[in-house]
Amino acid sequence: MPTRPVVDHGRCEAKRDCVRVCPFDVFEVRRMDVADFDALGLLGKLRTTAHRRMTAYPVRADRCEECGKCVTACPEGAITLVRPVAG
Ligand code: SF4
Repeated sequence: MPTRPVVDHGRCEAKRDCVRVCPFDVFEVRRMDVADFDALGLLGKLRTTAHRRMTAYPVRADRCEECGKCVTACPEGAITLVRPVAG
């Protein structure tokens, strides 16, 4: 099963490097979903509020070719490639 990019919304600062480097247009940056904000710890809430709750989402994750460019490009180390759990 292929890996998929996962964004740690508590680390992401919406700098859009992932949007720029991904050859397959996997990411978009938008305001964080309420459920994702609520799931953050206090530090994550403070950090993301400083960035108007903007964050990256891998909205077209099915296009990912696992090149790793987004992982390398993210200055916050907020992206990992994760193998989905079969089931
Ligand atoms: S690993 Fe490559 S193809 Fe996949 S989301 Fe990151 S930059 Fe795009």
